[in-house]
Amino acid sequence: MSIGVLAFRGKQDAIDRWSATARYLSERISGYRFEIVPLTLDGMSTEVANERLDFILTNTGNYVVLENAYGISRLATLKVRHLGREFTQFGAVIFISAEQKDLQRLEDIAGHSMMAVSRNAFGGFQMAWRELIDAGVDPFTDLSRLRFIGFPQDDIVHSVIEDRIDVGTVRSGTLERMAADGMIDIDQVKVLGARDSETFPFLHSTRLYPEWPFAKARTTPEKLAQKVAVALLEMEPESEPARQAFAAGWTIPLDYGPVHELFRELKIGPYAYLSKPDLATIWREYKGWIVFSLALVSALLALLFMIVRVEINRREQKHQTQLAHIARVNSMGEMAAGIAHELNQPLTAILNYTSGCLRLLQKNDGDREALRDAIVKAGNDARRAADIIKSLRQFIKREELRQRDIAIRDCIEPALELLRSKLRQQQIAVEVRFAPDVHRIHADRIQIEQVVVNLLLNAIDALQGADRGPAGKKIIVDVSQLDSRYVAVAISDTGPRLSAEVAEHLFDPFFTTKSEGMGMGLSISRSIVESHGGTIEYLVNQEQLPTIRFTLPIK
Ligand code: ADP
Repeated sequence: MSIGVLAFRGKQDAIDRWSATARYLSERISGYRFEIVPLTLDGMSTEVANERLDFILTNTGNYVVLENAYGISRLATLKVRHLGREFTQFGAVIFISAEQKDLQRLEDIAGHSMMAVSRNAFGGFQMAWRELIDAGVDPFTDLSRLRFIGFPQDDIVHSVIEDRIDVGTVRSGTLERMAADGMIDIDQVKVLGARDSETFPFLHSTRLYPEWPFAKARTTPEKLAQKVAVALLEMEPESEPARQAFAAGWTIPLDYGPVHELFRELKIGPYAYLSKPDLATIWREYKGWIVFSLALVSALLALLFMIVRVEINRREQKHQTQLAHIARVNSMGEMAAGIAHELNQPLTAILNYTSGCLRLLQKNDGDREALRDAIVKAGNDARRAADIIKSLRQFIKREELRQRDIAIRDCIEPALELLRSKLRQQQIAVEVRFAPDVHRIHADRIQIEQVVVNLLLNAIDALQGADRGPAGKKIIVDVSQLDSRYVAVAISDTGPRLSAEVAEHLFDPFFTTKSEGMGMGLSISRSIVESHGGTIEYLVNQEQLPTIRFTLPIK
């Protein structure tokens, strides 16, 4: 059976100290031979991890680490014999030179220098570390200097007495041993944060923690472990194995919970994962990863953003189409009346032209030229009527608008051409203003042309009643770039301005002030413009003329 022993003072020391115990166990437990395996701290972890040890004899701090990592469990706690006394607990003492007058309490040592064994020494530093933290002093940041000098601890005591360092910490009992050996006079030092304990005879500034445990590995059989525990508890205080171990035998295992608490509080050992490294350390150690992750996250975000945008666009388009459809279905009733209204004009024209033709034929004067002209015009109007029906059919159907990339000019010029004879007949002058650099739009040409025709017809109607004399009858078509996103078409006339009441209801279906009007032109125009994402409104322009202006988004 192997007993892994922490050889903190070297291999030989460990063998000298514990081989009598191994012999004792071999004699007490028949059929088993116990053997000491001296190990360093690291060696101990490796051997336990690889399950090469049956028992473990190590210091308190290391035991808790191994218990936590590999499930080793204690069977007994060592009764240490020191200066003729026995005890199962130990602590640490924090002290200064007796001549140092300005340090009274643990809190006072901030800004002073301190010496200890090593960062990993349980009694030689960590116990004091915990008390300092509790007193509000972080030894790593609040001291002028923190020196670790390793074993032996006697050097720390000398350094303090000789004033080479302000504060020292050593395992409890060290000062008393040095005094007993005549190395120091105990009055040369002053203990900071001294505590009293009835059962513990030595100077100490820290809480007390249990002494070394004797532990079994996780895989060691319970039966054998029991026999070992009994043998240890029965070891005589004055026996050879006890004396060789500088002990008075063993006692029932103490509670190692306080050691866990210390580690947890200091976030070290098994609780190192609790310590939060500061940002600078994280940056130094993980710079590459951080940069890589940030780049990756940015790329993913960009991709996500693009996907979301495409989706939003798609939905917006769908929404637009639905809106347009709703607007159109809502105006289905209007539409029936609208069809009649819109067709009325070309049909009346066709009727006029055909009756003109008949008259010409009846006269029989053979004016073939006039006859041809009337038939061509009737044909044009019939085509226009067909166009209207086509666009109305399209208007009602739920489908994407037949939007193409077009110049707004292509909607305006054909509309003017269509009404040219009517305008000439009524002696109405038309002024067309195209601002330079007007963007192209994305629209259904027939529908926009329809809007322009509606607005021109209204202007013509408005001028008919106007008492302005032939010279004053004028329609202005103004095309401009409203802003970076919209093109505006404003159609003004020199007719009277609208009353507030008319201006308010202008776009309502069936709203008309004309004896033969249907009140549908503007209502239909508005649904067309809005289904293209534009707006239409009545306003008075800079020349104080009544104006209907509609806008359309550029492509
Ligand atoms: P309708 O022309 O059949 O009356 P609209 O919807 O096209 O139907 O027009 C509604 C009303 O708006 C017209 O009756 C008229 O009172 C008014 N209106 C429209 N355009 C003009 C305009 N350019 N000048 C004055 N009034 C107008």
